[in-house]
Amino acid sequence: MIVAVDGPAGAGKSTVCRLLARELAYTFLDTGAMYRAVAWALSRRFSELELAQPMPHPPADEDFPLRFEIQNEDLRILFAGRDLGDEIRDPEITRLASRVSQMAWVRTYLMDWQRRLASDGRVVAEGRDTTTVVFPEAEVKVFLTADLTTRARRRFNEYMAKGIPVDYASLESQIRERDEADSKRALAPLRPAPDACIIDTSRLEIPEVVRLLVDLVRSRDSG
Ligand code: C5P
Repeated sequence: MIVAVDGPAGAGKSTVCRLLARELAYTFLDTGAMYRAVAWALSRRFSELELAQPMPHPPADEDFPLRFEIQNEDLRILFAGRDLGDEIRDPEITRLASRVSQMAWVRTYLMDWQRRLASDGRVVAEGRDTTTVVFPEAEVKVFLTADLTTRARRRFNEYMAKGIPVDYASLESQIRERDEADSKRALAPLRPAPDACIIDTSRLEIPEVVRLLVDLVRSRDSG
């Protein structure tokens, strides 16, 4: 059983998928973390200037000793044998991840890894194009969404909780612009798979969304 979840920023994908995987005792395949890992690995080897140009091919294996593995239902990211942990959460890496995710070889390289990691099933795969490109045959496909105001408010609350001052109006317009760009981009545009179950989380709390998805997975599993 593969559960694939896509949707715009702020719909609650990561939180929901982490809880869903825990509840089902599945592996949470955080594909965003994999894009961040590629960005981190490239930033070790190449300068900011070199990375500003789209790179046509992957670097040689010895310059790019990145590996992914699943251990006790957890995705581990290793660089030259070292676990990368939270280093990939840096704001600098976030910026770079978004850039490298638009290079064709990066998407193919990570798609191969994602399919290999999910080959035994029991995976909740979260991220852009998991439902359309990486796992079009997934037994459960979900597109989590929420209206713009709800998503902007959630992001606003996250920043406030971290003590980061932010202006609500500009946050909302940033999200609107990102939605626009994301649905229009050539590689991996944001769109639901034709047979995805679209869930609007605007009026739902996280545990309610998780419950809905657990029920959906169990109904497919027994069907
Ligand atoms: O989800 P997260 O913020 O960790 O993802 C980091 C970046 O990786 C995103 O900004 C997005 O551009 C890219 N990404 C992607 N396809 C995925 C997951 C993430 O292009 N499946």
